[in-house]
Amino acid sequence: MTDIIQLLPDNIANQIAAGEVIQRPASAVKELLENAVDAGATEIQLFIQDAGKSLIQVIDNGKGMSETDARMCFERHATSKIKKIDDLFSIKTMGFRGEALASIAAVAQVILKTKRATDELGTYIEIENSVVQKQEPCSMKDGTSISMKNLFFSVPARRNFLKSNPSELRHIVDEFIRVAMAYANIQFTLSSNSTQVFYLEAGSLKQRVTQILGTSYASKLVAVNEQNDYFNIYGFVGKPEAAKKTRGDQYFFVNNRFIKSAYLNHAVTTAFHQLLPKDSFPMYTIFIEVDPTQIDINVHPTKQEIKFDDEKVIYAFVLAAIRHALAQFSIAPSLDFTLDTNITQLDAVSKPITEKAMQQRDSGNLYQTFTQKHQAHNIDRTDKSNLTNWQDFLTPATEKLVPTQEPLLPANNQQEHKFPPVKEQQYYPCLQVANTYIVTSMQYDVVIIHQQLAHERILFEKFQALAAQPQVAFQQILFPATIDLSSGDAVLLQSLLPDLQKIGFMIEAFGNNTFIVQGVPASITISNEKHTIELLLEQMKHGNTEMKISATEKIHRSLARQQAVKAGTSLQHKEMQQIITDLFSCNMPNISPTGSPTYTTFSENKLSELFSR
Ligand code: ADP
Ligand code: MG
Repeated sequence: MTDIIQLLPDNIANQIAAGEVIQRPASAVKELLENAVDAGATEIQLFIQDAGKSLIQVIDNGKGMSETDARMCFERHATSKIKKIDDLFSIKTMGFRGEALASIAAVAQVILKTKRATDELGTYIEIENSVVQKQEPCSMKDGTSISMKNLFFSVPARRNFLKSNPSELRHIVDEFIRVAMAYANIQFTLSSNSTQVFYLEAGSLKQRVTQILGTSYASKLVAVNEQNDYFNIYGFVGKPEAAKKTRGDQYFFVNNRFIKSAYLNHAVTTAFHQLLPKDSFPMYTIFIEVDPTQIDINVHPTKQEIKFDDEKVIYAFVLAAIRHALAQFSIAPSLDFTLDTNITQLDAVSKPITEKAMQQRDSGNLYQTFTQKHQAHNIDRTDKSNLTNWQDFLTPATEKLVPTQEPLLPANNQQEHKFPPVKEQQYYPCLQVANTYIVTSMQYDVVIIHQQLAHERILFEKFQALAAQPQVAFQQILFPATIDLSSGDAVLLQSLLPDLQKIGFMIEAFGNNTFIVQGVPASITISNEKHTIELLLEQMKHGNTEMKISATEKIHRSLARQQAVKAGTSLQHKEMQQIITDLFSCNMPNISPTGSPTYTTFSENKLSELFSR
């Protein structure tokens, strides 16, 4: 009997391993570009011949390699990026497995030229089939140039598997864009068959986005920018009118690494709910920064899928951040001081409000001051300027003659500030249409409010505000209501009690699946306690499960929905006034908790257009 097991020779082992890392020219492009980024380059050039089938070359001005490293880098598991297992959990570089160059050298003819700034001469290495053919010193600029010729020349089966040139080139451009988008501070060029296809100067992210996706987006980008203790999210979404019928312009990056995530895409799309025309896709370039210990980047070999320890949290965060950004944008027409010159020039208007508003505009990112820790969608109450301004700008134009400044409330007086009582002089002319719409006029806009959706928004934020308070006022019920439940529902209600208590529902378990409602929120009228709780349970069980929102938010939504005044209800003048005032004191007045618009406006210009003036 002879033994039959033998170790594979290095070149074959590498070829097999290469199958995972280098599937097509575009995968090699990705690896080489990422290495250049990791090397700290500020200029990266990519040259392609024949869709990468005959040549892929990347030249960078990064830190280069020593002679020994130049030789070592082609060994499998040769990397400078991790040294011990702990490093895996705090990866900051694009690569770290030390497989790319070994794989590339196994399936192509590779020439490496590299030089560190501290060295007089660089190193030239030719390698083919994992075997070094030639090595010698060379003179060159600082940095690294790697060219790989005749990809898969030694693996004909793979070579035949490649798609047409246009298709392979498309993949290359995709990879190029993903890296270039993530590093706006690096200059990138791409030449294909000696023609320059991309020249991307280093600049801001906004510049990079328009360089890549087209200048038509320039005026159609809405900045996204939110932080909390765990994540940092920034980037741009396209305004709804910039949405396209194809899904193309959508980019997510986690710690600067491009990822595909249907889940996070859903969060973004949900944020756009009802703002987009049917069958169209919003543009977005969103960067999420998260502590590397919170994610697992090693899930998928090509590393385009990332696992978060707490997916729901990041979903909610993305959703809130983008809604917030969009809310800023869609409220913008009434806050757009530059457009409204004929208004701002009015003497009575320009002082004192406009000066303040101008200052605010000049102080940069309006939305940044709206951010509160842990609550992307909350206006920061400690910033005294925002709400008063919203109020000011929604004051009917005629009243601008005597601008009334709200006294600034102390920062801790959240509740009162949030829902200012209707002030007698803050009168909005209003009219109810079809027992559903409130029509009013603000500045020179006609505003049409959907009473039910608006009220849902108001109540939702009231519940949120209540929950955020350390102590909540409740109203004792004179004749406590008893609720008998099935044991399933009893367990469910038991689990909701802490959340309910936080907003003022005092409910006690009384044994045998019986509960007693002792108190309800003091500041919100609850119609029928028993019915309310039963409806809530029903909605928690059967409500929209597609949306991944927290139980707390679900409760708030559900209560807001059932308690809101319904469409078709005739309203008194006073009630309409209340809705208008309350709505425009909300953090996100323009969309209902479930994402429908709460109101729509017709500007004076629009009206005049309608009359062909
Ligand atoms: P990884 O990027 O996972 O470490 P690679 O096979 O892509 O593995 O690269 C191996 C090593 O070669 C890197 O860790 C790095 O030290 C070095 N290297 C590769 N490309 C470059 C480059 N363009 N400039 C400087 N060093 C490089
Ligand atoms: Mg690498």
